[in-house]
Amino acid sequence: GNDGVPGRVRVAIRLRPRNAEELMADADFADCVELQPEVLKRLKLRKNNWDSDTYEFDEVLTEFASQKRVYEVVAKPVVESVLDGYNGTVMAYGQTGTGKTFTLGRLGEEDTSSRGIMVRSMEDILADVSLETDSVSVSYLQLYMETIQDLLDPANDNISIVEDPKTGDVSLPGATLVQIRNQQSFMELLRLGEAHRIAANTKLNAESSRSHAILMIHVKRSVLGTEETLSSEIDNCSHLVKPSKPLVRKSKLVVVDLAGSERVHKSGSEGHMLEEAKSINLSLSALGKCINALAENSAHVPVRDSKLTRLLRDSFGGTARTSLIVTIGPSPRHRGETASTILFGQRAM
Ligand code: ADP
Ligand code: MG
Repeated sequence: GNDGVPGRVRVAIRLRPRNAEELMADADFADCVELQPEVLKRLKLRKNNWDSDTYEFDEVLTEFASQKRVYEVVAKPVVESVLDGYNGTVMAYGQTGTGKTFTLGRLGEEDTSSRGIMVRSMEDILADVSLETDSVSVSYLQLYMETIQDLLDPANDNISIVEDPKTGDVSLPGATLVQIRNQQSFMELLRLGEAHRIAANTKLNAESSRSHAILMIHVKRSVLGTEETLSSEIDNCSHLVKPSKPLVRKSKLVVVDLAGSERVHKSGSEGHMLEEAKSINLSLSALGKCINALAENSAHVPVRDSKLTRLLRDSFGGTARTSLIVTIGPSPRHRGETASTILFGQRAM
């Protein structure tokens, strides 16, 4: 537990409802987990008919949790701190098919109650800023095999990460940055990015579940009260001239739809598949190590081990706020993958 403490990671677990296939095929079997969402915030992973392991999380979201509730529990505190000028990250980790994209990326145009975290975050951001004085801009990227591609301009497929040695701030000079004027234009960008992601992956002969999708929302706000502070300084120091530009406060929200966490078996894979497997395992394990270091309050967070963690560097520790949503499915067949997903989430706390 780390309620509201910046620097550490808040971890929620979300169970996807049974899908049609699981309802049929696993009808005679109990779900592999049992949730105790209220007060205890525990999850039991069945070992067999009479025994189970129990884990605690910051939040436990059952198959009945609405998208609205998930947003409020997982993302809203992060969005609020971004609006206050701090960096924030929301990540989804889990096996392919357990609901990462549903949780984060769902547009919900046909059914607004199903809107995901990206859409709801932007709604709250646009409601809070004033576009006369503040600006909101977006980049949307894909990280695949240690290569960063611009999902808003897919020809741009070798973006490099630049880190400011003094501040530790991360920037992506080559990435498209689109100013957002309203919710509609943002929805169009998400749609465009998703279409580009599918097309790019078809070309690479890869599945989108094998890449990380990264949405960055940059917020620049003009700082209130600056005029007063500055003019009193100017009165005291005659050599100071009033700056022509108002001060701005910059922060960003990063939403990461991680590659599927299922173990890609290196044995039996060769060539491209093997390289892909290695690179996914590398970035997810590097991410795990950084999150563990934060959980242990370690002075050293090993961000240099992968592009994913280098990209998230200014979102780790310090005043930054991070939420991790761990997604699992109910099927007893995937108990092994579910167990390792749960352990990843546990180590982050
Ligand atoms: P992932 O991105 O982890 O691979 P998806 O988000 O694509 O998984 O989800 C897989 C399928 O399950 C999709 O058809 C999605 O609509 C459905 N799904 C996921 N989570 C939920 C949920 N909480 N409620 C209803 N359907 C869900
Ligand atoms: Mg997905």
